[in-house]
Amino acid sequence: MDGKRTSRAPVGSGPAAAPSGPPGKALEVLRAELASLGADSDSLVPRAFRAPGRVNLIGDHTDYNGGLVLPAAIDLAVYLLCVPAYNVLLRSTSEPGVVRLRPDGQEISGEGTPEQEEGLPSWGLYVQGVLRELAAEGCRLEGFLGVVASDIPEGRGLSSSAALEVAVATASTAISDCRLEPWTVAEACRRGEETYAGVRCGIMDQAVSLMGKAGSACLIDTAERSLRHVPIPDAIEMVVIDSGVRRDLSDGQYNSRRQECSDALDALKTAPEFANLETLSDLRPNDLPRCTKLLPPALLRRVRHVVTENQRVEKVAGLLAEAVSASKDGSLPPELAGELRSQVEESHRSLVEDYEAGHPVTDRIVELARGQEGYIGARQTGAGWGGSVVVFCHRGTAARLATGVLEVLDHPEGRAETASPSPGTGRTGPSYHVCRISDGACEIALPQSP
Ligand code: ADP
Ligand code: MG
Repeated sequence: MDGKRTSRAPVGSGPAAAPSGPPGKALEVLRAELASLGADSDSLVPRAFRAPGRVNLIGDHTDYNGGLVLPAAIDLAVYLLCVPAYNVLLRSTSEPGVVRLRPDGQEISGEGTPEQEEGLPSWGLYVQGVLRELAAEGCRLEGFLGVVASDIPEGRGLSSSAALEVAVATASTAISDCRLEPWTVAEACRRGEETYAGVRCGIMDQAVSLMGKAGSACLIDTAERSLRHVPIPDAIEMVVIDSGVRRDLSDGQYNSRRQECSDALDALKTAPEFANLETLSDLRPNDLPRCTKLLPPALLRRVRHVVTENQRVEKVAGLLAEAVSASKDGSLPPELAGELRSQVEESHRSLVEDYEAGHPVTDRIVELARGQEGYIGARQTGAGWGGSVVVFCHRGTAARLATGVLEVLDHPEGRAETASPSPGTGRTGPSYHVCRISDGACEIALPQSP
């Protein structure tokens, strides 16, 4: 549902059918919730907030290493509908349980008793983290009764968790009339995820969900906390192919890579020449030979990924800018397409071989995409170990390209042996989504009842 094409309507205005799409689903559940609490839902006008997921075009595992990333907010999003209330009471249309907290994220009766720990559903940890971190920023938060609904598949590299955090932060600060800089909100969300959900994530997902811009990618320098919009040329479209392999970030691989990066930094800093290193992204490619003698092979590969990935992000941002002026007739010059291809493919190879964050199914998708008409470049996107592949395509070819990939991937004869899900990965079936690059989080008008 596109919030921009609709206008705010009072809840319960006539016998109209419930609007479809995520906000519609949330509205239905919210009405039922209000009715069950004995509230007169017809007289309450809910407010609605939207926080987008994102596709990362290039720059994975650089954001927690002080590096560069190039994500874009997409049309899939988390929606949060709410009315003011004394405390926070939140449901989700896709996850079980009810989140009950004080407006500042504290437990309702006393702090941290075992019953309350059990009482908070696992997704409630993201909510609690955001509220507590916003309160720590000095916000005097008000309560709300709300419902979240989303069309972002969870655990597939499109950042449903950050979208949930940003939706909660946007709603909570708006109803409390608390004004904070977007970077402060992004930091609060990131800290909330790290401290309460236990994922030591970087700042990319929260920043792009808050500050994304329609039609543009966001070039983010995570050390400087700066963000520049980089228009995506009309000649290129992005399709995300979801491998159907769910990766659970809290399962430890992500945190273990993060630990390796921190160990590598500590080891390098013992050498006088690297004593002033603040992050791995302070290194340049010509520093790598000198790292060889200071690091075990696995850590050296992680460092090499970070250093070379930063270079590729800069390069791709530059190529996109060049392509905007060079592709005036709507098509991308072949030499630019070739350069983009080599950067994007090299990023995938580096993620798989140096960072060891790949998965056989995403690998197979990348390989199959290469053989399709309209292909420019493909790489696994997001943290990895499954999730999604982003394919850069020539305009007008994305849907056909993705269909072609999935036909072969799903066909028993076309399926490589490696394309079977690993045991316990919870693969639910691949799918694709042609991305419309969208704006960052904001309040939206509710869909109008017909
Ligand atoms: P992703 O790559 O999608 O961010 P994560 O594993 O980081 O994957 O986050 C997924 C988790 O975020 C879910 O397990 C759930 O706890 C939470 N989440 C995401 N979307 C929703 C939603 N609509 N309702 C409730 N929880 C959600
Ligand atoms: Mg996440």
